[in-house]
Amino acid sequence: MKIYKFGGTSVGSPERFRALIPLINDGKLKVVVLSAMAGTTNTLVEISELFSAGKRDEAATMTRQLRERYHQVADELLSSATWGERAHDLIDEHFDYITTLFSREFSRHNEKRIVARGELISTALLHFLLSEAGIPSLLVPALNFMRIDKDGEPDYFYIRENIKREMAAVQDEKIIITQGFICRNVFGETDNLRRGGSDYSATIIGAALGAQEIQIWTDISGLHNNDPRFVENTRVIRNLSYGEAAELAYFGAKILHPSSINPARLKNIPVRLKNTLEPSDEGTLITSTSAYEDYKAVAAKDGIIVLRIHSDRMLMAYGFMRRIFEAFEAFKTPIDMITTSEVSVSLTIDDPTYLDDIVRTLSSIGNVEVDRDQSIICVVGDFRPDRVGSAPEIFEALNEIPVKMISYGGSENSVSILINTSDKIVALKSLSNKLFPEE
Ligand code: ASP
Ligand code: MG
Repeated sequence: MKIYKFGGTSVGSPERFRALIPLINDGKLKVVVLSAMAGTTNTLVEISELFSAGKRDEAATMTRQLRERYHQVADELLSSATWGERAHDLIDEHFDYITTLFSREFSRHNEKRIVARGELISTALLHFLLSEAGIPSLLVPALNFMRIDKDGEPDYFYIRENIKREMAAVQDEKIIITQGFICRNVFGETDNLRRGGSDYSATIIGAALGAQEIQIWTDISGLHNNDPRFVENTRVIRNLSYGEAAELAYFGAKILHPSSINPARLKNIPVRLKNTLEPSDEGTLITSTSAYEDYKAVAAKDGIIVLRIHSDRMLMAYGFMRRIFEAFEAFKTPIDMITTSEVSVSLTIDDPTYLDDIVRTLSSIGNVEVDRDQSIICVVGDFRPDRVGSAPEIFEALNEIPVKMISYGGSENSVSILINTSDKIVALKSLSNKLFPEE
């Protein structure tokens, strides 16, 4: 069995919905995990924000517009009266639900219920479309099996047991449809796996069912060796290891949710990134056996903040690191990069929510400087400890750019370099010329 996950653009219009049929209707058993139609989750988040700001009328207007758009989609998608009517009823049911929430107090829980509508509607529409075409499919509600624990992590035991029970209902259907992104939390409430979480749903489901392969379908043919928005002549990377793919997903390659590699890696299930617009393209294959190459890719992550903590008391002292880390732990803020000298420590974070509190806490340890608008450039390749010669090429490419921090040796798969965001495009281009010369 394979898992096929389709992102928002792959179900972005009635034509795109229809284009999925030949891809999934090949007589082989598969679980199809869907995102919401492109743009829907953003609109639902906006609606929730208006609701939370007390602007209920504006929230209601936006909800009405989205409802109308879905009715149009249903009209174009389904030609029979029976399935058309079912789709219109379903759409009304979901939008009536959102509207009734507006008469209550805003809460984070209501927000989660609102943003879940996108996936609930897209999966039902695909199910109706297939039914109209006479293709049997089974719609399995993700809320019946997908669950996170108190730390927001997938509860694998629960998921495995419950998805197996749901799959027992499969008769002759080869296409099992379910929602990406949405889940229940420990209280049994509707929740989600955070933005872009449908990829994560797909790999969690793949791991729970011991799938043979997990395919993530988007509208680009796999991961590129540099950012095509800034660099010309980028190439698709055909093979990546789980470790390499995880680094790339984390450092800005928007095509894959950063957490989504983990479940596949745990069960050693290949992940293939495919393009709905070019289905015959083999895309990128992510496995445990992908061979090392000197350099595979370069990616950049913006919105990084660096904190430098300097204290002469650190000289020959112990316990400083613990105190520094505790400040970040207390404010639930993950650290990305870190470098140290005898009397100073530099750290980066990408979540500024508790920056002021963290700085205040660290000020009791030493002098703290903060720099915003930083980017981490991540070079993915072969950085195993006994390898020689990769650093000069990277730094030669960057010799015109102020390098603020370097992290080498933390990972066998990557080197991270901190620069000003204003230098990012030049850095990406120059690294591309040096590390991936045109053939
Ligand atoms: N629809 C959700 C989002 O836009 C989940 C996903 O597409 O992966 O974030
Ligand atoms: Mg996505």
